[in-house]
Amino acid sequence: MYVPLWSICREEGIEFLWDSYGRVATLRKNGIEAKLRVNSDKVLVGDNFKKLGAPVRFYKGMVVIPRSFSRKALPKIFKTAYARKTRKSRRIVSSAKAYNKIKKIVIDPGHGGKDPGAIGRYGLREKHLVLDISRRLKKILTAKNIQVILTRSGDRFVPLWKRANIANKKKADLFISVHANSFRKRRARGFEVYHLSEATDDIAKAMEAAENKSIKLERNSIARYSSNTEAIVCDLMFDEDKKVSYELARYICNSARKKLYVRDRGVKGARFKVLKKTQMPAVLVEVGFVSNRKEEKKLKDASYRQKVAQAIANGVLSYKRKYERENGFAR
Ligand SMILES: [Zn+2]
Repeated sequence: MYVPLWSICREEGIEFLWDSYGRVATLRKNGIEAKLRVNSDKVLVGDNFKKLGAPVRFYKGMVVIPRSFSRKALPKIFKTAYARKTRKSRRIVSSAKAYNKIKKIVIDPGHGGKDPGAIGRYGLREKHLVLDISRRLKKILTAKNIQVILTRSGDRFVPLWKRANIANKKKADLFISVHANSFRKRRARGFEVYHLSEATDDIAKAMEAAENKSIKLERNSIARYSSNTEAIVCDLMFDEDKKVSYELARYICNSARKKLYVRDRGVKGARFKVLKKTQMPAVLVEVGFVSNRKEEKKLKDASYRQKVAQAIANGVLSYKRKYERENGFAR
């Protein structure tokens, strides 16, 4: 029986750092440091190894540990183990982040550079389309006093981990990835918004596979990717973020239905890599299908793109109002 390590850490107030390159989890509390490596059944505490009983595993994007270990040994390690002085390190995940205002949003135009994304029958490239919509969206939100950061402002390849890193470093309140769909069935059309979870239907699964494809293109960057702390990213998301992500997705979807009169394909869950690595609520918007003749035509039109951007913005802004009202920050 395995349990996710990060949830145990959160409960126990243990700092959790994840080195996705070395696949090593570092746990810290009270000056005590423990290191666990995926597929190893040993844990390094200070200079001593302890046996876990069963190896640490990586399951569905999460580090999981044997439940028996988490119940008994883990609290013991952090109370009784030899207190070893550790270098003051960057806190990657803050366990008590204050969620009260939405002031800073990272918008992530999908693909770019050598990765064109989906290509329509009449040549519309996802990477160009989503950059244009993202820029328009930035303009609208900036005018509403929200600080907006784009993960790319030109036709440039940005690896997925870097996109998430930008949002994490900037401590963004929300992360919105903008994409366009493509599906082998040319009749597929409409607007949909994803939040992070298991893929819920066949199209969502196909989508997940397609959008995660640019991982392959990242190999070169990963090879250069050293295990320094700057590059450490966590494969985790807190429950609170998940709830906000889901609600934000719903708001954006509702807004699109009202504003664009498009087929509302609804809110769906999928395990997009780019969403998994963000440490804030994150959604992925699919603005339409470039594989559908009619939608491709519409998406080529500047005034329609503006409408799409406005629809996303309306969803974000109405969610922001609701969120801040509920959190006692209404103006
Ligand atoms: Zn895409």
